[in-house]
Amino acid sequence: MIDLLGTPREALVRELVAVGVRPARAAQLFRVLHRSRGVTDLTPDLTGLEGKAVLATAELTESHRTDDGTEKLVFTLADGARIESVLVPMKLDRTTLCVSTQVGCAMACSFCATGTLGLKRSLTAGEILAQIHAARDHATAQGRAVGRLVFMGMGEPLHHYDATRDALHVLLDRLGAGFGSKSIMVSTVGLVPKMRRFSEDFGGRVGLALSLHAGTDATRLRIIPTARATPLADIRAALLDHPLPGSRYLMLEYVVLPGVNDTDEELDGVAAFVDGLYAVVNLIPFNPFAGAEFRTPTSDEVWAVHQGLRDRGVPAWIRWPRGRGAHGACGQLALQSPEETV
Ligand code: SAH
Repeated sequence: MIDLLGTPREALVRELVAVGVRPARAAQLFRVLHRSRGVTDLTPDLTGLEGKAVLATAELTESHRTDDGTEKLVFTLADGARIESVLVPMKLDRTTLCVSTQVGCAMACSFCATGTLGLKRSLTAGEILAQIHAARDHATAQGRAVGRLVFMGMGEPLHHYDATRDALHVLLDRLGAGFGSKSIMVSTVGLVPKMRRFSEDFGGRVGLALSLHAGTDATRLRIIPTARATPLADIRAALLDHPLPGSRYLMLEYVVLPGVNDTDEELDGVAAFVDGLYAVVNLIPFNPFAGAEFRTPTSDEVWAVHQGLRDRGVPAWIRWPRGRGAHGACGQLALQSPEETV
């Protein structure tokens, strides 16, 4: 079956031609699929493709808005599986969309609510696109424009790298969804071989964020079970090889877990890790969820980590929580309704 929404242009044309579509019509179909959202009824364009091609869907079935304007969207996929995306308003009328790539997640990070779900399945590239198109249409209807995509929703985007790669190619295609490479960022727990493929395939043009979360291997392993296969030294080597064209820099995410990863030893480790990298540490105060074994840091505790890093010469920012009220903040995407209190 041809994945209409998730196949990059050249491959799509090739696959459609192979099932008897004229090349010009195949090329036109790619544009229609990604450009004329919400305007065109695609049915006439798809006649004759029944049984040969599939148009992935993501139906918006719930939305929860918080006071800060953040909106969590719940999408139901064709098989009934549900995923969440988050619209985060930024400066002016620009909005960032936080995209999911899997139903649940296999990485099982102990500080992440999605990790507690386990992996149900990965999204196809078409489903990733369907989610983005639907979220974009929803935002547009409210006069908001999705200017930035972050692959930081449910799932590990590099765990099923091929779907993520295909989706990125379609998103970046000027005749496709038409996002600029600077406006897309992929976040990974640190799957080194896939990080290297990602660096190579996109030449560093698509933003890369690495979930660092600890300065020592021992602490990282305690909170990120998959870290066993990828010591910090290997991750650092892959980041050193990641090309950074133009003004790009790496983002290192660091969830602040008081008493766990905010000690001098951990911060010394972070400083050693960052030394020689062109990177900024993004501190994320731990966002709580039911059953979590960690405590949310006070703002003083977050500022102390910030200062500790600055003192060590490490550039750092704080990502204050957005969307906690709708369980739409980092690490809270677990298909719970906001009424289920923490
Ligand atoms: N699988 C990807 C995307 C995860 S979500 C990755 O591991 O990078 C984006 C960020 O939110 C990651 O850095 C993740 O570690 C972080 N995060 C997860 N749970 C969190 C929580 N409860 N509070 C704050 N940040 C969290």
